Amino acid sequence: MRFILSWLICMSVCVCVCVCVCVCVCVCVCVRARLCFLSLKYTHIFPPPCNPLTPPSLSLQWEEISVMDERNTPMRTYQVCNVMEASQNNWLRTRHIARDGAQRVYIEIKFTLRDCNSLPGVPGTCKETFNMFYYESNNANLWFIKESQYIKIDTIAADESFTQVDVGDRVMKLNTEVRDISNLSKKGFYLAFQDLGACIALVSVRVFYKKCPLTVLNLAQFPDTVTGGDSALVEVRGLCVNASEEFEAPRMYCSADGGWLVPIGRCVCKPGYEEQKDFCQPCRPGSYKASATDAYCTKCPPHSSSHLERASECVCEKGFHRAETDPRSMACTRPPSAPENTISTVNETCVTLEWSPPRDTGGRGDITYSLRCRKCSGDDVKCAPCGSGVHFVPRQFGLSVAMVMVTDLQPHSNYSFTIESLNGVSDLSPTPRGAVMVNVTTSQTVSVVLKERRSKDSITLAWQGPDRPNGAIVEYEVIYYEKREQNYTVLKTRSNVMTVDGLKPGTTYVFRVRARTEGGYGNYGGEIELETSHEGRLLTSRSVSLLSSFASLSLSLSLSLSLFLSPIFPLSPPSLPSLCLSPVKLPGSKTYIHPHTYEDPNQAVRDFAKEIDASSIRIERVIGAGEFGEVCSGRLRLQGKREIYVAIKSLKAGYSDKQRRDFLSEASIMGQFDHPNIIRLEGVVTRCKPVMIITEFMENGSLDTFLKKHDGQFTVIQLVGMLRGIASGMKYLSDMSYVHRDLAARNILVNSNLVCKVSDFGLSRVLEDDPEAAYTTRGGKIPIRWTSPEAIAYRKFTSASDVWSYGIVMWEVVSYGERPYWEMSNQDVIKAIDEGYRLPAPMDCPVVLHQLMLDCWEKGRSERPKFGQIVTTLDKLIRNPARLRELANSSIQNKLLELVSGLVSTVEEWLEAIKMGQYKENFSSAGYVTLDSVLYITISELIKMDVTLAGHQKKILSSVQSLQTQGTHVQV
Ligand code: AMP
Repeated sequence: MRFILSWLICMSVCVCVCVCVCVCVCVCVCVRARLCFLSLKYTHIFPPPCNPLTPPSLSLQWEEISVMDERNTPMRTYQVCNVMEASQNNWLRTRHIARDGAQRVYIEIKFTLRDCNSLPGVPGTCKETFNMFYYESNNANLWFIKESQYIKIDTIAADESFTQVDVGDRVMKLNTEVRDISNLSKKGFYLAFQDLGACIALVSVRVFYKKCPLTVLNLAQFPDTVTGGDSALVEVRGLCVNASEEFEAPRMYCSADGGWLVPIGRCVCKPGYEEQKDFCQPCRPGSYKASATDAYCTKCPPHSSSHLERASECVCEKGFHRAETDPRSMACTRPPSAPENTISTVNETCVTLEWSPPRDTGGRGDITYSLRCRKCSGDDVKCAPCGSGVHFVPRQFGLSVAMVMVTDLQPHSNYSFTIESLNGVSDLSPTPRGAVMVNVTTSQTVSVVLKERRSKDSITLAWQGPDRPNGAIVEYEVIYYEKREQNYTVLKTRSNVMTVDGLKPGTTYVFRVRARTEGGYGNYGGEIELETSHEGRLLTSRSVSLLSSFASLSLSLSLSLSLFLSPIFPLSPPSLPSLCLSPVKLPGSKTYIHPHTYEDPNQAVRDFAKEIDASSIRIERVIGAGEFGEVCSGRLRLQGKREIYVAIKSLKAGYSDKQRRDFLSEASIMGQFDHPNIIRLEGVVTRCKPVMIITEFMENGSLDTFLKKHDGQFTVIQLVGMLRGIASGMKYLSDMSYVHRDLAARNILVNSNLVCKVSDFGLSRVLEDDPEAAYTTRGGKIPIRWTSPEAIAYRKFTSASDVWSYGIVMWEVVSYGERPYWEMSNQDVIKAIDEGYRLPAPMDCPVVLHQLMLDCWEKGRSERPKFGQIVTTLDKLIRNPARLRELANSSIQNKLLELVSGLVSTVEEWLEAIKMGQYKENFSSAGYVTLDSVLYITISELIKMDVTLAGHQKKILSSVQSLQTQGTHVQV
C-alpha cells in the first residue's frame, strides 16, 4: 500500500497539464471561441476542505493529495487505490453545479488509471474502470444524495494505463474522456464518481456547454446563443444593427455544435446611411441615399448638394427645383425658356399655331404648352379673354406638341395668343413663365353644304356662302366623284343650289363645294357622301357628315348634322359650330383624289400644292438623282415663317409635257397627305424654270442605304419604332384609299430623329423610276420581290398588297438592308412564293416580328392584317418589349447555308458569304489566313482587328459558331 501511494504521489507530481490549485478543478478557458466553460458555477467541484457539504464519511477512501507538477506548480489530485481489498464502493461528489441555461452539458475528465496486471499480487477484484453519475436538482444546498438517486452517465475506462512503475523516468499516462448530459431542465446538477476497486488519480474535471457566438450577418446581430438539447436547432431572431431597419425579418439557427446555420432575411441601412461591413455608416457631405433599399450613398445629382452627413436627399441649388414625382437621383431642374419661332397659319376662322420648343428646356423632358387667347379691338389696344366659344385642338392647356389649332374664332377679328412653355417645376418657381405672344387676324369662312335631296339619278345640294367673302362671289364650283371610281367631275354655278343629274342609281357620290370671288377660289368645304336612291323616290335627308382631323395630332373631330329635308331650300343657316375646312388637310375623312380625275392636271397641282416663289429657296447641294432630274438639299424661307431645310427635286431641261405632268403628279398626290409618317410637301415652283417640288428634308436619306450604313447598330425597340412609323403612315394612306404599289425600304426616308416617312408617290414611279421593277408576263413593270402574288399575277393592287410589301420592308429593316431573297432570280422568287416558301427570320429577329411578317405574306389577301392592326401590334410590342426577347432560331447565316450551294474553304470566301467582305484585309493582316484559324476567334480579337461595330461582331461570331458546328468545309 505504501508503495502504491508513493507511486501515486510521484505520478501526481508528474502531471504537467491542467491541474488545479487548491481544491478546485477550475477551468475558465475557451478552447475555441465557441466553447465556454461553466467556470463560475464550477469553481468547487470537490468537497473538503473547500466544500463542507460533502459528507466526509463518503469520501474517506478518495484522498486529496497535493502534488507538484514538473514545473513545480502545486496542484491537487483526488486519488483512490484500494486494490488489495475487495468490495470497494468509494464515492467522490461535487457540490451543485448551476446549469446556466444550457440544456446539454459536457464533462471532460483527466485522470490516470493503474493497470491491474502491473500491480504485483493484487487480487482478481482489482478494477480498471470507474463510474460517473449525475443528479439533477433545483436545490443547490443538498447535503446528501442517495447513491440510488444518481443517474449513471457512463463507465469510464482508461485508454492508456500504466504498465510499469518507473519513478525515475516519470512515466505517466494521462487519459482524457468527455461525456455529455442532455435535456437538463433543473437549475443545476451534482456529479459523482464511483470507484469499485481501481487505482485512480483524478487530475481535472471540466464542465462546459457550447453556444453559437455573437455574430453580425446581413446587418443583423445575433446574440450569444446556448445550443439546444439533443441535436435540435435553436431559431434566433436577429436585431438590426445601428441605423438599419428590417427589410425582411432576419433569422438564423444555432446548431447543436455551436455553429450558425440557414440565415434568412436581412436588414438594410436607413436612408442617409450605407453598409460598411457589419454596420451602417452615414453618407458623407455631397452624397445621399434616398431609400433604405439603395445599396450605397451616391453623389448629389447636378444642381444639388448636401452639406451635412447622413443626407437622404440633396437640396436643390437656388433657382433649381425638384418636382414631387421626380426621383431623388434626378438633377434639379428649372422652368423652360419661352417657345420660339412661332408660326401662325390663318385659315378663315381657324388658326394653326406652331412653334419651336424652348431653347432651354430647364433640364427636363416634360415640356408642355398652355395658351391664353384674347380678342382685341381693331387697334389691338383693348383685349379681352376669348371666352368659351373658342376651341383648341387638341387642347388649350397641357399640350405636349408644339402645335395647336384654334377654331371658332370670329371672322375678320384680331386675336392675341400667349403661348407659355411649362415643365414639371414651373409651379415651384417664383420666376415668370417663359411665354411668347402671337397676334393673328382671321379671314372669311368657307361654304358649308346645308341641304340635299336625292333621286335615282340626281342629287340636289344647297349650301351657304362664305360669311364674309373677300369680294363678291362670282360662282361656286361643285366637284364630285363616284366614291369607288374617283373620276372627278367639276361643275360650276352662280347659284348656291345645284342639281347634279345623270347619276347611277344606288351609288354613293362624294361632293365638295367652294366659292370663287374676283380674288380667286376659296377653300373647299368638307366632303359629303350621298347615295342616289334605288327606286326613284325622294329620300329623306341623311346625315351630312363633315369630318375634320388633324393628322399630326392624330385627332379627328366629327360633326353630324341631321337636316330636315323640304322641297324648298330655306337658306337661313342653322347655327353650326364652324370647322376649319381645308381642301387638302382632312385626313381620315378624306379619300385620295387621283390627279388623273382632273381634266386639267395643272388644276390638281394648284388645288393640292402651294406655289412657292423661287427666290425663297436656296439650293445648297446635290443629294441624289431622281427619275426627272437631280435631288438637292437646301433651305426655304417663307414670309413670316422660320427657315427650314428642304429637299428640292427639279425637272431637268428639255422635258415633254407628259414628263412635266408626271413630275408634278407627285406633288399633287403628296399634297393631299398630312401625316407625320408621310413625306410632307412644302410646295412647288411651276411659274419659273426649273420646275421644282419642295419637300421636307430627311437628313438620313433613304432607309435601305441608311440601314446598310448602320448595320447592327440599333436596338430592336428602335427598329420596331421605325416599323411602327412606316405602318402608321401606310394606315393613313390606306384609310384614304391610296394604294402605294411600291412600298420598299428604298422608298422610305429617314430624318435625324429616326422618324421614317413613306415617300415616292409619282404616277410613273413604278413604271420608270424603280430600278427594282421588272416587266411581268402581263406587260406591267413590278418590283417582284416586294409585290404580292395576286398583284404580280393579275395586277390586283390593294392595301392588302401594300401589306405584303410592308412585310418585306419589315424583313429589310430587321436584316439591316439585306436584299430580299438575296441573289435569287425574280422567276425563282415567284416560283418559291407560289410553292409556299417565305423569307426566314433575319438574324436576331424576334419571333413575334417574324410571325407578323409571315402574316403579311399570307397567300389569301383577306387573311393579311390591316395596317391598323399592324400599328396596334407594334404599339403593344413597344409597350411590352419583353415579348421581343424570344428570337427566331433561323438566321440569315443559316439560310445562306441552305440557299447557296458551294463550299467555302478560305477566310475570304467565308467573309464574302456572310457579307463581311470589307474585313478581308483586317483578317489577313492579323494572321487569320485559314478557316481553322478563325474557329476560336474572340470578340477582343475582333476589336483588335478594328471590327468595332457590335452588329458586325455579332454576325461574324455567330457565323463562327456555325463553322464550329458544321466543320470548316461548310456550305454557304
Ligand atoms: P426620289 O426621286 O424620290 O427617289 O429621290 C432620289 C433620292 O434623293 C432618294 O433616294 C434620297 O436619297 C434623296 N431624297 C429624295 N427626297 C429626299 C428628302 N426629302 N430628303 C432627303 N433626301 C431625299
